[in-house]
Order: sequence, then structure tokens, then C-alpha cells
Amino acid sequence: MVELSYCPECGARLRRHVLAGEPRKHWFCAVCDAPRHAHPLIVVTCFVSCGQRLLWIQRNLEPQRGLWAIPGGYLESGETLAQGAARELREEAGVLLPSQRLQLYMTGAITFINQVYVGFRAAVDTPDCLPGAESLDCRFFSRDECPWDRVAYPEVNDSIRQVYDDLERGDFGVWEAGMSETRYTLREVSQRAAKGVSKDVRGSR
Ligand SMILES: [Zn+2]
Repeated sequence: MVELSYCPECGARLRRHVLAGEPRKHWFCAVCDAPRHAHPLIVVTCFVSCGQRLLWIQRNLEPQRGLWAIPGGYLESGETLAQGAARELREEAGVLLPSQRLQLYMTGAITFINQVYVGFRAAVDTPDCLPGAESLDCRFFSRDECPWDRVAYPEVNDSIRQVYDDLERGDFGVWEAGMSETRYTLREVSQRAAKGVSKDVRGSR
């Protein structure tokens, strides 16, 4: 449960919402007489490939300014998941792709920071990109060219390595990632993995 100490409407101290004797996973403001939720934020990203290379952007925003990441950001109101991911591609890397070209590739819950993650993939024929206001640079990197020592979120490197693996195989599953403060897992959930194939890519981080 995400800590939310004070009511965003009136500033009163919040307490846990107990309904019918059961503590719920949100808070309650006694002054406003209303529940106060801290719903997870939704992060949308897209892995854009050109051959065996993937599109990366160099962040121009804090946190992690100057470090490299896969283009992505928070979903905005009124967008579908794919539209949000396509907008981030346009804003951060000048890559114009209709949202219909984006294929669902990875989902995940990052419970300890209260975020839900939805990753798409798309392929392009030419490695054209142009950094936007939120990025210093953008490039297509092969696995070997990638600046692994200067990535913004090394905790998700295993997911990105999975994309390079799938690009090499030419065969993409759909993956479900789970991340807690101590554990990162990646599990294939597509139909062909109905036998329940899963892999614990890293026991702890
Ligand atoms: Zn209040």
C-alpha cells in the first residue's frame, strides 16, 4: 500500500479506510468523509527495432538525465495504451508510428513504486530518429553497441536483453514481468507458453 499521509483536498491527516471491519488498500479522510486512493501510474514504452538494433533515447530530464533508456513515459488521460506509447516515441525520438503498428509485448507490475508497466514492440525499416525536447540524443543500438554502463534503469536490463534475444530468434512471445524490491522475474505468458514456462531472471537485485 502506497503511503499517502495527508488528504490532497483538505490537508487533514489520513487514516486507513476500514469498511465493514476490513482494512482496505487505500486511505480515508475523516474531514472530507471520503476515501483517498493512490492508484498506480501506468508507464507505457515501445521497443522499436531496426534489424537487430533497438531504439534508445538519452534522457534530457531528471531523474537520470544523460543516461540511456527505452522511450516511454506515463499514460495520459484519454489515450489507449498503444496511443500513449506511440506518443512517447514521437515526443522522445521523432519516430512516427501509428498506434496500430504497436504489438503488445510485455506487461508488469512494479508494486513497490506503485506502477504498472505496458511495453509494446514495433519494427521499422530505416533507423531514422530525431531527439525531442525530452531527449539529448536517440540512436539504434545493437546489443554490443548498447552503452550498458550508462543506462538509466539497469534494474530492467534483463527485460531489454530479452528483446535482443527475441530479435535474434526472430520470434516474440508475450512476457509478464514482476518486480519487487528484492526480486525481478520474467515469465512468458503467450499461448505457446501454456505449459507455464517461466524464468526467474534474477533472484535478487
Ligand atoms: Zn480531506
